[in-house]
Amino acid sequence: MMGYMKDTITQLKNTALEAIAAANSLKETEELRIIYFGKKSPFTDILKSLKNLSTEEKRKIGPLANSAKIEVQEALKAKTEALESQFDAESEWIDVTAPGDKKNSGHLSPLTIVQRDIEEIFTSMGFEIADGPEVETEFYNFDAVNVPADHPARDMQDTFWAKNAVSKDSSEKECEQFVLRTHTSSVQVRYMELHTPPYRIIIPGRVFRQEATDASHEHTFHQFEALVVGDDVSVANFLSVAETFFSQFFGKKLKIRLRPSYFPFVEPGFEFDISCTNCGGKGCSSCQQTGWLEIGGAGMVHQNVLVAAGYERDQYTGFAWGFGMERLAMMKYKIDDVRHFHSGDIRFTKQF
Ligand SMILES: [Zn+2]
Repeated sequence: MMGYMKDTITQLKNTALEAIAAANSLKETEELRIIYFGKKSPFTDILKSLKNLSTEEKRKIGPLANSAKIEVQEALKAKTEALESQFDAESEWIDVTAPGDKKNSGHLSPLTIVQRDIEEIFTSMGFEIADGPEVETEFYNFDAVNVPADHPARDMQDTFWAKNAVSKDSSEKECEQFVLRTHTSSVQVRYMELHTPPYRIIIPGRVFRQEATDASHEHTFHQFEALVVGDDVSVANFLSVAETFFSQFFGKKLKIRLRPSYFPFVEPGFEFDISCTNCGGKGCSSCQQTGWLEIGGAGMVHQNVLVAAGYERDQYTGFAWGFGMERLAMMKYKIDDVRHFHSGDIRFTKQF
């Protein structure tokens, strides 16, 4: 009887300890508590059955049963506490206001932002956006915009010429050279050939010049050009459009100043300045105390250009003007080196 009781106690203890070790939720430990220490506890049954034993046997089995009960009780308590600390509110708490993992999204280049700003302002004034090829023929890049064959702009020093000339006809007697366009003016003539005035267009685009780079010069940059052709287009129209555009672009009322200048495709030609965006015309370090900032070139479209496009001489008048988009972006965002735009340095782009 005694040996049987000993085995029963050991077996009960081992089974209980195994079940406790395997439990991994508070629900399971609670079930085990009810099984081993509830109303129908096997330990209670064992202790009750001790009454059938002799006094000597009771003294041996009693403590054995008790220590087994205590051992199981302690194991269950330890397991319950371990599970409670694992699932307690502190560790389960989620801070819903904590910032999440930031996803890296792309950025528009400041040049793209500026180009879109420009396009938006001009389309609101009724301008269309025109586009043309970046690899251009010598005719459209130079001849059609009144740049004569001996003009220094055609020099190898200034222009990227394509290596192979392409024949204009099957006889191969007359060949045409290709260039990376040196200005967006080539698109003017392409547009004129296909359209009858009146019209107003803008031509934003990438252009190329063979020159040494420095803080204000790049071999690849962006130009922006506006062209208006019609019956009675005048310099006053240019002034009004330019003033409206620059005031909207910089978000403040700006004045335009014209200075006589020469460009082959306009007559008369002028360079134009805007009142300093920094000091408003009083004079500061940005404008070298002059109150004005140089922006670009403009003029009334040369009749030779209109004739090259197929119009009658003196049938229409028009104005054209252009400037570098990098320069405008540099002014707007106070960028000190034009080479940043093409550097590919993400730290630069991320600022916009
Ligand atoms: Zn100033």
